[in-house]
Amino acid sequence: MSGPIVPLALGTWPTPVEPMPRLATALGLGRDDLLVKRDDLTGLGGGGNKIRKLEWTVAEALANDADTLVTTGAPQSNHARLTAAAAARLGLRAVLVFPGEPPVARTGNLVLDAFLGAEVVFTGVQGQPALADAATRVCDRLRSEGARPALIPFGGSTALAARGYAQCGEELLSQVPDLRTAVVALGSGATMAGLVASLGPDRTLGVDVGAVVDPRQRVASFVTPLSPNVRAEDLRVDRDQVGSGYASLTATVQEALTLVARLEGIILDPTYTGRAMAGLIAAIRRGEIEPGDTTVFIHTGGLPGLFGHPEIPAYAESLAPGR
Ligand SMILES: *Cc1c(COP(=O)(O)O)cnc(C)c1O
Repeated sequence: MSGPIVPLALGTWPTPVEPMPRLATALGLGRDDLLVKRDDLTGLGGGGNKIRKLEWTVAEALANDADTLVTTGAPQSNHARLTAAAAARLGLRAVLVFPGEPPVARTGNLVLDAFLGAEVVFTGVQGQPALADAATRVCDRLRSEGARPALIPFGGSTALAARGYAQCGEELLSQVPDLRTAVVALGSGATMAGLVASLGPDRTLGVDVGAVVDPRQRVASFVTPLSPNVRAEDLRVDRDQVGSGYASLTATVQEALTLVARLEGIILDPTYTGRAMAGLIAAIRRGEIEPGDTTVFIHTGGLPGLFGHPEIPAYAESLAPGR
């Protein structure tokens, strides 16, 4: 590989920023204090935050002459689905390596993975390290068959990928110059890391979703190549929205999902954006975000995952009026 990586154009930019006046008022803020950055509307493959990262990581894969994109994640991974979409757009092969056994029926992102033509491998293993090993073995097999695989780590997070969100931060500052706090879900970490690199640690609040054991260290590891002065202890991280684990649906997330849907007509997902909004609401309630602070909620997508979440059908049934 030679020369700097030039990012691909996979998404639709800039994404819009919209006011959320009814939600702001309901939460005790001024009606103009709360905005949403619509990074769910990035276009390709149903949209979501992973597109900005893939513009860099897939460019790197192509610079290394890859013809196959391999990645891992939970079966409902939005990143895996968008990797499949990027592969389809570029005429590459996509192989998605998942833990556990295949589900009885495909739901949510797994439906879209099939539409997009991705090959899906259920490895039977559990846990991040075993899954990473399984993905390495899949790459070895592909190579022995004559393919040229590029392995994109789970969530698509690398220091290079974080540059996509550093660009998002610049875009956001041009749209909202008086930004005080941007609130974003923290999963595999490069999304928050990129925002921290351009907005600074004081203006970025990450809400952990429980995808990794050491969220603060992970984010710091992706920030420092871009912004060497940022330390892990400078980061604003809320770890209180995870509940009993990555796949749980907590009461505060339920509140966030219905509040935003009913006051703004905007749909969040239970795993990422619902937790980020629950974290934003909690920050207002403890006075960390106050009236007059211009606050931007980063909507990172994830709608397909809602249709693959095991607890959502029963929760929706509990809400349905007039039964
Ligand atoms: C992956 C994901 C995130 C978190 O981004 P990371 O860079 O993995 O931290 C947030 N929201 C949605 C919908 C996602 O799919």
